[in-house]
Order: sequence, then C-alpha cells, then structure tokens
Amino acid sequence: MNKFMIRFRGVRGSFPVPGKNTLKIGGNTSCVEFRIGNAVIIIDAGTGIISLGEDLLKEHFSTGQPIVATILFSHMHHDHNQGFLFFKPAYLGSTTLHIFGPTMFEKGMEEMLSQIMRPPFSPVRLEDLNSLRLIHNLRGAEEILVDPETGNTFFRNIHHEQENPDKNLIRIFVQKDYAHPVNGVLFYRVEWQDKKVVYASDTEGYVGGNQKLIKFAKDADVFIHDAQYYMDNEYADIMTSKQGYGHSSPEMAVGVAQKANAKRLVLYHHDPSHDDEKIEEKEKDVQRLFPNTIAAYEGLIINLSE
Ligand SMILES: [Zn+2]
Ligand SMILES: [Zn+2]
Repeated sequence: MNKFMIRFRGVRGSFPVPGKNTLKIGGNTSCVEFRIGNAVIIIDAGTGIISLGEDLLKEHFSTGQPIVATILFSHMHHDHNQGFLFFKPAYLGSTTLHIFGPTMFEKGMEEMLSQIMRPPFSPVRLEDLNSLRLIHNLRGAEEILVDPETGNTFFRNIHHEQENPDKNLIRIFVQKDYAHPVNGVLFYRVEWQDKKVVYASDTEGYVGGNQKLIKFAKDADVFIHDAQYYMDNEYADIMTSKQGYGHSSPEMAVGVAQKANAKRLVLYHHDPSHDDEKIEEKEKDVQRLFPNTIAAYEGLIINLSE
C-alpha cells in the first residue's frame, strides 16, 4: 500500500471559466485531491471539488465503504469554498469529514462555513448536512497526522521538527502566510514515505523570494505555487498593475522553487482571463527558467508512488 497520487480538480483563481477557450486547462476553481494509501485529502473546495464528490460517491456505492475525507482550506475566498455546498458526500450520513482551516477575523471554520451556507445565500444550512463533520481551526503552525489505512486524523499543536511518532502516518504541516489580502492564507506540506508536496496558492512574491516559504518547501518533490499574473504586462504594468492583489507571477514562483531546491514546479491558480493558448505560452516561458515545470490543468495526475 504505497499509493501516493495527486490529481488537480480545479486550477483557476477568482471565478470559474467554462467555454471553448479553456477546454484544455479547465475552468473550475481551486481544488487538489490527494490519495495516499486509503486516505483522501483535499486542499480547497472550489468548484473542482464537485467532480471529486461525484467520483467518491461512485466508489462508495460500488465498494460499500463509508467515505472518510480530510478537507483543508487555505483561506475562505469564494474560489476556495464555492464548491463545498455541492460536495455530495457531505450529504451522506455515513460520511466523515475532517475539516481544517484558518481562523479569520476571529471567526472559526465552523462559523465561516455556517455563514456561507445559510439562507438567503444557500438553500441548505451547514447543520442540515447528514455527514459527521469534525471541524478544527488552524493558527498556521500545526501538524495534522492522517492514518493512511482509515483516513482518520490526529491533530497536534506542536512545533514542526518533532519526530514522527509513527513512520507510516501521513504528516501535514501548516504555515501561515501574510502575503494575501486581507488576512493571509495557509500553506500546506503533505509528507509521506520520504515524499513531500507543498501547496502555496494565493500568495504574492517578495524581493529575493519568500524566505519562510523557501524553508517550508525545502526539497519538495512537487511544489504547487500561485502563478496568476504575467510579470511585465499584468503584475508590473504601469496602468493596470496587479501589485498588492496577493498573487504571484511565474517568475516569482520559479525564484522560490529554485531556492527551495524543489524537484518539480506546478504553476497554479491561473487567471480567469488566460485561455489555453496563453497558459501554454506561460508554461513554455517558465520551462526556460525551470525545466521541470508544468502548468496545472484539470485532470493532471502526478503519481509519487513509482
Ligand atoms: Zn484564490
Ligand atoms: Zn484568495
């Protein structure tokens, strides 16, 4: 049982962009699925989580096994939670969801999820969902342990460097980042059997690179980084600059990936105005700087178990 697979379910920032110009990259908002052993770990619940929910339901009906999943929210902007209401496993009484996310503006995860799921904004309230939900708030310096056999989680409020009590447990490290308006974002590092995957979306680069992130992403096998804007004609454009929006250019992503000695860079959280052609162009430009780069697209699978 050494399965370690990542699948990109939604790769857009801001809002969904269906249509003929985004068929290759996909139009759904942020969601990445991890399958490690039997465990299902999901980072962000943009509209990409909806198709994952459908697949989990099919598996549940064919195997009879209850669904157990961990959902990690990076922050609570719409493009990271708008799919949660339509995540069908949450409606099943046999499902267990381990939910983790930040405290923002003194509101915990349960309160924030209740706020986005209530009339008149939503026909269904959080408390109407039949699933068992174990909801935890993160400050941004914790470790979550996940059992790869059962998918159940153990939460440790401890410092990163402590020894893993059981080598076979999946370890998820959390780091708070302040480079996203208005109240920052959480980065996640998922580790299992000497493999490391880092998720750093919705963050803006610093001169010389984000040193805390460089340390956090050290030697990552897969480094998923925000690359929403082009440097010259978007990020630093004199008329329509996107500085301060809390997103990065691909060059910023490369800078951090190089300094962190990441093995593979995945450009993520594409701007909704970028069509397939433009993102392909972006990928080629970045490959000149960092050859092992791929622009995330819906359905991209990275298998770390080989
Ligand atoms: Zn976003
Ligand atoms: Zn955001």
